[in-house]
Parts: sequence; structure tokens; C-alpha cells
Amino acid sequence: MIIAMKPGTAGTEVQEFISLLEKQGVRVHFSQGITQTVLGLVGDTTAIDAEALMAHHLVEKVIRVQEPYKRANRLFHPDDTRIDITGPDGEMRSIGAGRLGTIAGPCSVETREQIIEVAREVKKAGAAFLRGGAFKPRTSPYSFQGLGSEGLDLLLEAKKATGLPIVTELMDISHLEAFAEVDIIQIGARNMQNFTLLKELGRCNKPILLKRGYACTITEVLMAAEYVLAGGNDKIILCERGIRSFDTYTRNVLDLSAIPALKKQSHLPVIVDPSHATGISWMVSAMAKAAVAAGADGLIIEVHNNPEKALCDGEQSITPEAFAALMATLRKYADIEGKRI
Ligand code: PEP
Ligand code: MN
Repeated sequence: MIIAMKPGTAGTEVQEFISLLEKQGVRVHFSQGITQTVLGLVGDTTAIDAEALMAHHLVEKVIRVQEPYKRANRLFHPDDTRIDITGPDGEMRSIGAGRLGTIAGPCSVETREQIIEVAREVKKAGAAFLRGGAFKPRTSPYSFQGLGSEGLDLLLEAKKATGLPIVTELMDISHLEAFAEVDIIQIGARNMQNFTLLKELGRCNKPILLKRGYACTITEVLMAAEYVLAGGNDKIILCERGIRSFDTYTRNVLDLSAIPALKKQSHLPVIVDPSHATGISWMVSAMAKAAVAAGADGLIIEVHNNPEKALCDGEQSITPEAFAALMATLRKYADIEGKRI
């Protein structure tokens, strides 16, 4: 971090300011120009509040050189992080560091027949994880809200029946205990900056699938991950799921550039959700292929055995047949990228 002092600041005032900074655990490199003094902060500046410094009456300008996140930063962790999960069938599935992990299943768990049938189909097609929402974040309070704990029980039944590890969304920390058998906890776009929730998840040791908020920057995504990491949980998977823009043709705009950006800045695996990113089932395959070609470590795809009758997100859900065809193509893409499904 570099701090330019206001022109004409007296030497004694600069010295006092320097000791203030040193009390915060950094060393200060002092540089005296003709009209201005510039201070270079050396050491860990993640806990230094740049905005607070900017408000100081002696400060002209503050420039951050280092990113405000440390544990999520590739600089301090050059190797890719890999998340390994063993299903009830004893098979280990991985996401990251050369492994492409696919998560597939319906938007919401609806009935026992539906979730078990979809689970069997996606497993047959080669999916590594089963998804299914039990607690759903819906824009309208009048829309289907998910089956809640009953949905969770059905998802656990599907886990048992197929051996697939499961992914489901947590909206309320009071449900955490009921998520004991859930393999990956999803934090949805709407909760990406729910800092109370993120702090609690830092204290649990389950993998977290952190979806990008639809109006959040790359730095904000990494700062959200930093909250979980700072609490001691280093099992995080980042997910690009489309951001808001002006065009309503698609539900969101898939920010493919977020994949190389997040992977450059961080060691954490990055997966893509082409279903919520586009909101249109016929676009899912093209965007899934693009994501793998852009370096994604995995995909989360909505698959429904009867999309027309789905209680949630049917228009963006693909059939098990379409998913199987996509998986066959994705294997070739993964191969080109040097990744193993
Ligand atoms: C979901 O995956 O079911 C979901 C609601 O996604 P998002 O939080 O990205 O909207
Ligand atoms: Mn959905």
C-alpha cells in the first residue's frame, strides 16, 4: 500500500502518522520528494483499512498494491486447490487441479420418484454429484419455496440409492445441523454477501459452493471466499452463474472472463452454472462447452426428467438424454484441456 501525504505536511506530523501505521503491524518505507512525502507500507496490509486512511486529514491519496484478500490469493498459495469428496459408494470425486467435476440434478427436489429417477440418470451419464434444492430462494413469496426438510430427506434417499454425493443450498444457518449428511453446501447468489452466514460456514468443515452474486465483482467474490477461509474452512468452490446486464434475451449474462480472472487471482476451483446464467435450456450445452474451454474446473447443470412440468426453472432445465449427450462431448473438451472428468 502506498500513501501520499498532503503537500506541506510537517515532518513531525509525518513521523506521528508513521508510528500510527507501525502500531498496525506494518513497516513503513519513507520517501521525501520536493513537495510531497510518500510512504510505502511493507508487510501484511490486509487488515489495514484503506478507506479509513483516506479520511485522515494528512492523507492525499492511498493506493492498494496488494489485493485485500490473502488466504484466497494465489500469491500465497500457488498450487491449485482440489476438493475431494467420497460418496457413499466409496468412490472419490474431485473438483479442481486437473479434475473436472460435474454436478447435475433438478433445480428443486419435488417428489421421491423425480429425484431418484434424475439421480439415476445423471449418474449413468457420468455426473459426479447430484444437485437438488430443498430450501429455495424465490423472488416471489407465492412461488414454490421447495419442500424444505422433506426435500432434504428425499435428496438423502437419492444419495443412498445412487451413491452420489449431494449438493444443496443452505439459506439459514439454523438449518446447518440438518445438513450433516450433505456433501457440499451451496451458498446461492443472493447470499454471497451474507457475512453472518459466511462467518459461520468458516467454522464448519464441509466444502462450500459459493455462487457469485449477480451484481458482484471478482474482488467481492474473493472477499466472500476470504470470510469462509478466515474462519478456518479452506474447502471452497467458486461458481460463476451469470451477472445482470441490460439485455433480457438471456436470464443473466455468463461472464466467461470470470473463469480465467478468478483462477489467476486465486487457487480455489472455479465452476460454471450455464443453467442460471442463460435461463434457456437450448443454450446450456454451448455455454457448458465454452466454460470448459475457458478453463472451468467443473459445471453445475439443471437436469429434469420432465422440464415442462418442473415446479422451478423448467425452461432452463435439460433432459437426462440431453445431459448424457453433453457429458459425452464434455469428455472431449476436458481431454483437450488436459483435465479428467
Ligand atoms: C440454484 O442453483 O438453484 C440457484 C438458486 O442459483 P443462484 O443462487 O445462482 O440463483
Ligand atoms: Mn434453479
